[in-house]
Amino acid sequence: MKTVKDYIRTIPDFPHEGIMFRDVTTLFADPRGFRIAIDQLLHPYAGEPIDRVVGLEARGFILGGAIAHQLSLGFVPIRKKGKLPGKTIAQPYVLEYGEAVMEVHEDALQPGERVLLVDDLLATGGTAEAGIKLVEKMGASVMGCAFIIDLPDLGGRAKLERLGMNVHTLCT
Ligand code: 5GP
Repeated sequence: MKTVKDYIRTIPDFPHEGIMFRDVTTLFADPRGFRIAIDQLLHPYAGEPIDRVVGLEARGFILGGAIAHQLSLGFVPIRKKGKLPGKTIAQPYVLEYGEAVMEVHEDALQPGERVLLVDDLLATGGTAEAGIKLVEKMGASVMGCAFIIDLPDLGGRAKLERLGMNVHTLCT
């Protein structure tokens, strides 16, 4: 029987020469692959109190939307700078080359809410850390961070665990 990892394809030299891009569109496109990915992402959180699902642009929206629907919860997007129409709060973070900024609507979460943070892939952890900081700036807390893929050599899991986060990944 195929595992989640079997549905992921690797594209060499994207977006730059020397990068091996892990492409999850083939996982999302397969009805069984997508189903088992969502089920396995949710598995550790069965019975846990979660108030809201937060997804990181852009593949975190696809996963987060499906997870929120499965749990009958609302979904909140964290987007790259300049994409959200309402009043936002911002969080800069470091990329491989340079800096970027993530934003969330300032009224998207209520203080005290428990959030499940979702994205497709954990590399350095910089994007997820920016998401965690935005959630915490609103007085909410991240009860879990769930990703399909962990690239352990890049240290993201260790970084998030140092922040006290519970990290759940499906494959490396
Ligand atoms: P980090 O901030 O942890 O270094 O990078 C993670 C972010 O970059 C995630 O939002 C993820 O979608 C994106 N990312 C980086 N490399 C890849 C890759 O090889 N495949 C996919 N699907 N996303 C990637």
